Amino acid sequence: MAVDDQQWDSSYDVVVIGSGGAALAGALAAVKRGLSVCVVEKSSYFGGTSAYSGGSVWLPGNHVLERQGVDDSVENGLAYFRSLVGDRTAEALQRTFLETGPEVARFLEDEVGIPLEHRPFPDYYAAPGRKDHGRSIFAASISADELGDRLRDIRPPVPADQFGMEVDRSVLDGGQAWIARMVLALDESGRADLHLGTAAERLIVDDAGDVVGLEVSAGAHRRTIRARAGIIVAAGGYERNAELRRVHQQMPTADWSASHPDTGSGDALRMLSEVGAQVDLLDQSWWCPATLFPNGRAAFTLGVRAGIIVDSTGQRFANEMLPYDQMGRAMLQRMRDGAGEVFWFVFDNRFGDELPAICVPAPERAAMTEAGLWHTASTVGELAAATGLDVEKLTATIDRYNGFAVAGRDEDFARGEDPYGRFFVGAQDAAQCLPSLDGSRFHAVRLVLGDLGTKGGAVISTEGAVCRADGSVIRGLYAAGNSSASVSGEVYPGPGTPLGSGMVFAYRAVADMAAHLAGAPGTTT
Ligand SMILES: Cc1cc2nc3c(=O)[nH]c(=O)nc-3n(C[C@H](O)[C@H](O)[C@H](O)COP(=O)(O)OP(=O)(O)OC[C@H]3O[C@@H](n4cnc5c(N)ncnc54)[C@H](O)[C@@H]3O)c2cc1C
Repeated sequence: MAVDDQQWDSSYDVVVIGSGGAALAGALAAVKRGLSVCVVEKSSYFGGTSAYSGGSVWLPGNHVLERQGVDDSVENGLAYFRSLVGDRTAEALQRTFLETGPEVARFLEDEVGIPLEHRPFPDYYAAPGRKDHGRSIFAASISADELGDRLRDIRPPVPADQFGMEVDRSVLDGGQAWIARMVLALDESGRADLHLGTAAERLIVDDAGDVVGLEVSAGAHRRTIRARAGIIVAAGGYERNAELRRVHQQMPTADWSASHPDTGSGDALRMLSEVGAQVDLLDQSWWCPATLFPNGRAAFTLGVRAGIIVDSTGQRFANEMLPYDQMGRAMLQRMRDGAGEVFWFVFDNRFGDELPAICVPAPERAAMTEAGLWHTASTVGELAAATGLDVEKLTATIDRYNGFAVAGRDEDFARGEDPYGRFFVGAQDAAQCLPSLDGSRFHAVRLVLGDLGTKGGAVISTEGAVCRADGSVIRGLYAAGNSSASVSGEVYPGPGTPLGSGMVFAYRAVADMAAHLAGAPGTTT
């Protein structure tokens, strides 16, 4: 249908689908260029999984790092990124991500007015250009008083949203701070209409195959929105779609994702596919170990400080102090090797009876024990009986590990020899990362393979435009965040890669749209 023949209910320069970090960064880039923006968010909250996040944003060589004395550069970051991602994604896309990162950090702080700060969190791989204390930046925390009534529109943090716990929201930090500050900035711009409870249903194309608008639904009501410059699809991945997870990833369930549970059914992937987008990386997630809770959900677990992780055979299979995505990939490999989906985090009471790792929220022992997800015993034999693990295998595994503890060296998995693992222990050397397992009480907590979201979706150009299989771009259509095939391919290079890359490509999408509106050739003609 020709654009002029279509009756539109409303019209904007830019329409943004979703309200996570990528979406809101794109919306802000648009309003700062003087464009009118409509943000449609399907759930009753802004923020998506971005609101759950730690808020780390990985943008090497930015001005915030320089201000805080971190010696870094785009070239350094690019060397690191390239060495890890290789040619799994286009070199030009990788270069664009790294080279645009500092500009986006400047934009967010100087033009939008979000105060930024660097906080240490190590990069994830031993590769040239690595930073042992990372290169992540965070939005400064914000008082709930500044948000007023908007607070109730920001998706609550994980303990409240997924586990019904009371949380103090008087000060918002991490991903909460990012989303709060971006929503406030959009409100203050006077150029953005933000709609909660409004689902994107269908991309509308004209006779030439260009995307010109969007059909949305709010309850039973359907309407159409014209997008004069373009649409950014930043509606997350398909992490909560059990069928897609089974088909593309052979995952037994979608319940173990640590992502928000409301809308991750893959609307973006469906809509993008309907208009001919090329898709890639559908087998990939931002993987992590996750602690299984009595309500069937699983919580992101990282920063192991003691104990060992065994599979259903009672054996260790990886360095427990690996960065979480790599540990998740090791778990995935064990599952694919036929070891099953049951993993146990085995630890003792030498450092107390709490899980020796970061888990948000911390599991409550009584409820976990009642659900059979946490077992406590005074001997390894009793623990094996309670968990169903083979007693001889588990005993042999612990004996072997304790031998490494005495020697101060993990001959099987080199635990503690990488700065990432030592960071969470506060250790100077590997030996400090190998406390023996010989307390008077043993615990086993059930782990599963979780993720922070899927990372496969539309293949995008350096301008964030959605590509067809023949390499041409679909004019008027852009994707960012987990709706796009991640620039990082099959690796998770450093803390904040999901948010950082999502923000960069949403920002670039708007620059491309603005160029088109101004009559410049842009890149999507
Ligand atoms: C506990 C935790 C900590 C994390 N920490 C970090 C971190 O520190 N740094 C980092 O980079 N990453 C982190 N991650 C990962 C990161 O949060 C996600 O990968 C990222 O937020 C995904 O962003 P997104 O914009 O693609 O999707 P989301 O933030 O999930 O936003 C997508 C939005 O689109 C909406 N939507 C879906 N369908 C529709 C539709 N049809 N119409 C309209 N709206 C729709 C959803 O409701 C949602 O609000 C963390 C994840 C978790 C779970």
